[in-house]
Amino acid sequence: KAKSTHSGHHVYRSVDNRHGDARLRTLQELRLALTEDQLILHYQPKINLKNGSVSGVEALVRWQHPERGLLFPDQFLTLVEEAGLMHALTQEVLRKALDQSVLWAAQGRTLTVAVNLSASSLIDGDLPERVGTMLSARDLPATVLMLEITEDFLMADRDRARDILTRLRASGIKISVDDFGTGYSSLAYLRDLPIDELKLDQSFVFPMADDARAAALVASTIDLAHGLGLKMVAEGVENGVSYDELVRYGCDFAQGYFMSRPIPAAALDDWLTARLN
Ligand code: C2E
Ligand code: CA
Ligand code: CA
Ligand code: CA
Repeated sequence: KAKSTHSGHHVYRSVDNRHGDARLRTLQELRLALTEDQLILHYQPKINLKNGSVSGVEALVRWQHPERGLLFPDQFLTLVEEAGLMHALTQEVLRKALDQSVLWAAQGRTLTVAVNLSASSLIDGDLPERVGTMLSARDLPATVLMLEITEDFLMADRDRARDILTRLRASGIKISVDDFGTGYSSLAYLRDLPIDELKLDQSFVFPMADDARAAALVASTIDLAHGLGLKMVAEGVENGVSYDELVRYGCDFAQGYFMSRPIPAAALDDWLTARLN
């Protein structure tokens, strides 16, 4: 059984035990997805608003399902979490993103790749070491990797969060706080954490083109971030009006459909080439 989400995708009704058989089948399918290499990454460019260059990409996972076609994260991530497979998914995503990074380096492209980490994958205290091993196995500098974490992880266990972030960042990996503004973390707390940037949630960015008050909120949040020595990234930039306003407000980076949707690496290659001409 499926229900619709805001985005119109269908998700499994994973908490509903009346559909035990379907659930079991889905779990088996999920395990197959990992062993049969059905998870793929799409990449969305991140634009440096100071000079228009492409500073990096965000890796976003998709499931190329043999029968159901391309599935989006809101259709399967909850289930991955419930099945205890998030750790495996994170490893797979990191592996694929870093393999792609090697290809980009060979092509002379300097792109930082950002990988999303769920709170559960950050609980793992060995993460900094494992990421370090994956980087050195590929001869990649830590500076190619950015990790996107959410406020709920930061707030759940502050000491642990600080410890893990400190170790990751000491190795040169950059840290971004995703969906900023939707959680409960105070800026005062964030100021003391080893992080590089705040990623303003798209719900603040969507209304700014036609709502002056929404735009003013974005502008002052950018100033606050800068006051704390942090870079600001705006996500969900869907039109030129928002883009231009963000430039005017001094926002550092932006992502959104206005520039590009998340796309496969081959399509990104074409996009990057076209952009340079
Ligand atoms: P997120 O990290 O906040 O990623 C931004 C989402 O907004 C992506 O959806 C992206 O495709 C979409 N987006 C980007 N620009 C625009 C825009 O201009 N307008 C609109 N309407 N949407 C835009 P996606 O790819 O479906 O991912 C949804 C969420 O799933 C992500 O939200 C992230 O929380 C999670 N996710 C994706 N990949 C991974 C992964 O590899 N690991 C983990 N743990 N979570 C992931
Ligand atoms: Ca993200
Ligand atoms: Ca986000
Ligand atoms: Ca989000």
